[in-house]
Amino acid sequence: MPQKADERRSFLHIRALMATTGEGLIAIGPDGDVIVFNETAEELLGVPRSKTSGKPYTSLQQPKIEEAVEHLLRPRTRKTSHTMRVVIGERVVTATVAPYDFAGRRAAVITLRDDTVLEADRRRSEAILASTGDGLIVFDPDDVVTYINPAATMLAGLMPSAFLGKSTPLWEMLAMMPEDGFAPAIDGSQVREVRLEEPAHRIMDVRTDPVLDEQGGYLGYVATLHDVTAEREIGQMKNEFVSTVSHELRTPLTSIKGYIDLILDGEAGEINEIQREFLSIVKQNSDRLVELINDMLDISRIESGRIHLKIQPLDMSDLIAGAVDTFQAVSDQSGHKLVPKAPRDLPKVAGDRDRVGQVLVNFISNAIKYSPEGGSVTVKAKQDGDMVIVAITDQGIGIAKEDQAKLFTKFYRVDSSLTREIGGTGLGLSICKSIIELLGGKVGVKSTPGKGSTFWFSLPVASKDLVRTPEVEGPGAAGGTVLVVDRDPQVANLVQTYLAKQGYDVVKAHTAREALTKAIAVRPRVITLDVMLDDGDGFDLLQQLKDTPETTDIPVLVLSIVCDEGRSCRLGAADYLEKPIDKNRLITIVDDLVGSVTAPVVLVVDDDRNIVDLLCHNLKSNGFSVVAAYDGAEAMASLRKTHPDLILLDLQMPVMDGYQVIEKVKTNPATKDIPIVVMTAHQIDRSRIDILGLAQQKVDKPFSADDLARRVEALLEDMLVNS
Ligand code: ADP
Repeated sequence: MPQKADERRSFLHIRALMATTGEGLIAIGPDGDVIVFNETAEELLGVPRSKTSGKPYTSLQQPKIEEAVEHLLRPRTRKTSHTMRVVIGERVVTATVAPYDFAGRRAAVITLRDDTVLEADRRRSEAILASTGDGLIVFDPDDVVTYINPAATMLAGLMPSAFLGKSTPLWEMLAMMPEDGFAPAIDGSQVREVRLEEPAHRIMDVRTDPVLDEQGGYLGYVATLHDVTAEREIGQMKNEFVSTVSHELRTPLTSIKGYIDLILDGEAGEINEIQREFLSIVKQNSDRLVELINDMLDISRIESGRIHLKIQPLDMSDLIAGAVDTFQAVSDQSGHKLVPKAPRDLPKVAGDRDRVGQVLVNFISNAIKYSPEGGSVTVKAKQDGDMVIVAITDQGIGIAKEDQAKLFTKFYRVDSSLTREIGGTGLGLSICKSIIELLGGKVGVKSTPGKGSTFWFSLPVASKDLVRTPEVEGPGAAGGTVLVVDRDPQVANLVQTYLAKQGYDVVKAHTAREALTKAIAVRPRVITLDVMLDDGDGFDLLQQLKDTPETTDIPVLVLSIVCDEGRSCRLGAADYLEKPIDKNRLITIVDDLVGSVTAPVVLVVDDDRNIVDLLCHNLKSNGFSVVAAYDGAEAMASLRKTHPDLILLDLQMPVMDGYQVIEKVKTNPATKDIPIVVMTAHQIDRSRIDILGLAQQKVDKPFSADDLARRVEALLEDMLVNS
């Protein structure tokens, strides 16, 4: 029978094929008998064909596989294939049990694959991932978490079972706010600093990187959690140490510097030439010491992000002229020619007057320091698109190419006999670079050894809005009594001398009690206050002064070596000045304060201290008096003492939130007319929207502080017109 012969041939053919495939193949007929069992299956299961062929599938002796077959052959069950991993002796085998149709009846086919090597590889990779110190979380393209290593479990307190196989965004796993979260990693790598308080206080650099296959196809992404708590804390300790030591050094220096200046100014009577020469040397060296300490403080402030910048429109030509003036005496002596060159129509730049001045002075002083006597130093400014570039060119020693790249790093000094002789710290340029970059500009150098150097910096042109901001002019209404509070009589005398020369009568107090009594008795126009007092904390005194009706309106200028501008502002200080005291700034501020008693008062309420600091600073430089509060309850407390002209209010705050404050202010006849501007970054609570309607305006965070100051100004002007 030719047909039979054909069938047999093709059967043998299929069998031969099955025998040679690398996969184990077993077919189970509808009645549960093994009808096909190839050589690979024999080898993988370790059962000879004679023991299984034609026998029931239980002869396979693999309970997991048998269970799946049983399930599949059972009538009325769903026909789906089922894959499982079985360990047989040394081997790891992946078995798939799938249904197939056998002449209209349901039968099963089992394929077996030897994954021993693959499994060993997988285990090894997992062991490697598990043993890295960094936490790893792996996501598939649908953001489903596919792997969490033990370090991630430990660092972020993540229970793998709660996340594996589920789609959870990374920011949620790390308890971050969605707005601070990561963009999809498909866009490239990102790094964020994440602070966790649970399960323990930790600072982590979290990095996300897309995972791509060889063709660049997106396979998901991996997040790396790197614990930097110790590094950051050591960095902070270092900064605090530097700042404490520097402050301690400033106290004695304040007196040394101040009194030498007075003697040299002839305040202690005539001095002869030799005395003048010796004192000038003392002065030069104390100035150097002050400079060094200021540099160290600047560095620690920049590194810890505590530097305050007052951005305002600056006339670069004015600043250059001012800086050149400061060097006139020096250059007269050294025979350097200082040439300022700035076009008349130069636009204003956006910058911090003191800080940009500091950069100019640093560059000019270097140009003089590192060039021979009689050379010329040009200070040129020009506009380049939306930037203004300032270049300081000297005809000095120049700088070799290899040194140029390193100049702007901390403590770097070119090693030569001349630089050694001149002396310096190598901090100046690195501070300049940080300041300019914080202000949105760049710095650079071009130089030819032996010929000279050009140091340049750029700053953004001030926007039109910024230019419109009125600059506060001191009203110059000097005169009247100033109460100077300082536990150190020498420093108090020094401040007295400075102010007396400007026509102020000075009353001094050395203790908190004395200060309060005198303030009530004398009612000075301004109080200067050092917060370090023997009989109590100066901040308490400040609070008391603000709590006492007779003294609450007297502006207080905190004069301190303890840098705590934020706290001073919150307690109601009108301004803040650091020691050693800069005579001219002291006089400018006191003059301004004497004229500012009528300045409108703004109450700033926000639990974010950075925002409060920023607004205090900005509003003050726009001519407002500022009172600050960190939550609603504090705001209500200050409202009992002062009657601000306007309230800037955050909504989400601890203790008492913004809605409650609005309600309280608007229902009290004494305060209901004070306009409120609400600042919010969050969704508005719809159920309390009618309360919000009582506020005059709403601004969304993030906002520009300058913009806000202008809005406040406009609102107050409107009120004045309408009243
Ligand atoms: P310092 O002057 O205190 O050493 P800086 O940071 O201001 O610190 O300068 C770093 C170094 O850069 C200097 O030590 C000097 O070697 C080099 N340098 C700076 N300005 C000039 C210049 N105009 N000409 C030549 N070298 C300069």
